[in-house]
Amino acid sequence: MNDRKQIAIVLAAGKGKRMGTQTAKQFLPLRDRPILYYSLRVFQDSFIDDVILVTGEDEIAYCRQEIAEKYGLSKVRAIVPGGRERYHSVYEGLKEVRKLTDHTAAVYIHDGTRPFITENILLRLKESVEQYGSAVAAMPVKDTIKLADQDGFVTATPDRTKTWQVQTPQCFDFDWIYPAYRRLIEEEEPLLAKGVHITDDAMAAEMYGGGKVHLVEADYRNIKITTPEDMAVAERFLQDIF
Ligand code: C5P
Repeated sequence: MNDRKQIAIVLAAGKGKRMGTQTAKQFLPLRDRPILYYSLRVFQDSFIDDVILVTGEDEIAYCRQEIAEKYGLSKVRAIVPGGRERYHSVYEGLKEVRKLTDHTAAVYIHDGTRPFITENILLRLKESVEQYGSAVAAMPVKDTIKLADQDGFVTATPDRTKTWQVQTPQCFDFDWIYPAYRRLIEEEEPLLAKGVHITDDAMAAEMYGGGKVHLVEADYRNIKITTPEDMAVAERFLQDIF
């Protein structure tokens, strides 16, 4: 399976309401480049063959001219419009992967708002996806996690030694994750009616897949830029890298 295609889907179709800015967070400048640029650069310089970028309909031209072309990101093969929720955007990306390749590809699904992936993380993920068909970037949690009801009363305390915070990339055999997402989209209404919130790709793989999802230790610096204070942290991390 080693010569199969390795394809990244980079998500940049969110509106980023929690940031409180007009510009969606993936396009905010970090140093002098959009946040989205940084992970695309790492994929460009890595073993990844192709990148599918998913963004807002109105942002496709900007992404093509001001990011992909401007910075010579030639692995960005397609820029497609996303959907209402993250999982809709992922499904649009997967449909594009289907057009590009046979069903043997490995797919790396990544949030464009996580600029600090590294080649090392990608290599560890590749090893796992080749062995287990899945590889989800994650880190052990440092704080104790509580489950609580709507009124803020604790209902359970999961064992901290078994609790992980998950990040992206989340990587899967295409022939596992694509059918899983197709079923998820088909069954979206009943799932929503049951109150299921679909917040990552592993959930689709866990619900509709045949195998177990494998976590791979990534890096605490692989943060998702979500709220204004994350920008200050990200600036600091950049100083350390460059
Ligand atoms: O909203 P959240 O922080 O989970 O978003 C994670 C990533 O998914 C971001 O890169 C965002 O742009 C992307 N996203 C998307 N389509 C949506 C919602 C989020 O591509 N409808």
